[in-house]
Amino acid sequence: MREKDAQQQYRINGYCVCGRKNGFAPNPDYCSLYCLKFMTEPAEGYKRKTHYECWQGTGTFAQNPVHPKLDCNCEWCGDSYKLKYGLAGANKSYCGTVCMREATQGMRSKDKSKRRGNIAQMVRIMRVLRYHKTKMSANDISNHIQKWFRCNCSSASVSNILRYLCGKDIVNKYQNNTGPTTYRIQNQYTPLKQLFD
Ligand SMILES: [Zn+2]
Ligand SMILES: [Zn+2]
Repeated sequence: MREKDAQQQYRINGYCVCGRKNGFAPNPDYCSLYCLKFMTEPAEGYKRKTHYECWQGTGTFAQNPVHPKLDCNCEWCGDSYKLKYGLAGANKSYCGTVCMREATQGMRSKDKSKRRGNIAQMVRIMRVLRYHKTKMSANDISNHIQKWFRCNCSSASVSNILRYLCGKDIVNKYQNNTGPTTYRIQNQYTPLKQLFD
């Protein structure tokens, strides 16, 4: 991820560039998913220029205007939704409550086929892998899940689910002689709903 010197110079320890306390779990430099995207992702129509760079100083008398809403894609269905700056909603990852419910459902005991398994945990694993975009070990993934989602999660249970996801060709497995086995998502952009529904 590209970090700008200009951003760094405004950053005070313990605070996000926007002035709020930082500590967004996947990237503790920022206060929220909103600020992470705003500061690091390119704005529409640009290769590099971030949302922030397009926005800063565009208000009257060089004041910064209200934070714009950002277009995001729902982690579950892939549809676009608007992410707002502010205390409520700046960490929204789903387009609505239906998707949030579907993506966070636990084990379904009634499901005879067991095809669904523990969707909530599969989604957490996929989101960590998606976020990092690199190959990760089961141990690494479980550490990130604990921090990000504040839930118990052993690396053994992550390994189990990864085995299932590899069998479904959703995740690829990389073995090497020296380090631990690592995993990467096969297709970064396929909506999770499509994979687990
Ligand atoms: Zn912020
Ligand atoms: Zn959705």
